[in-house]
Amino acid sequence: MISTLQQLKKELRIFFPDISESCKRCEYPECKGYITLFEEEIDEFLDLDIEVVAINEEVYLINNFEEKNGELNLSEISPKCKLRCANGKCGIHNHKPYICLIYPIMIEKYQDGKHYWCFHKLCQ
Ligand code: SF4
Repeated sequence: MISTLQQLKKELRIFFPDISESCKRCEYPECKGYITLFEEEIDEFLDLDIEVVAINEEVYLINNFEEKNGELNLSEISPKCKLRCANGKCGIHNHKPYICLIYPIMIEKYQDGKHYWCFHKLCQ
């Protein structure tokens, strides 16, 4: 039985074992968007010296934002992930956050204002 986030992440790796091969064929030059983290994931990322942004002390994101006048530009809608390597691989493949592990499955807000589980068909 899966009862922790770490256990779930381990199982997700079995689900998409060769995802990095697909990433190499991806048409998008970078992984983009808000890379959100669960609170349980934060220490692992801080241990890896990866900056984490806390918004209103309840939303946590990998810091992929540019600095503007000494402040993070949080208005950027789809910032490129700074952890993606030039060869298309994830720079932290063995430590990917949950949101990256479940991709291409996402929760998206649709035109009717409701949230749905979606499958991104553009993903290789
Ligand atoms: S953490 Fe890795 S998989 Fe996730 S968006 Fe960044 S480069 Fe892509």
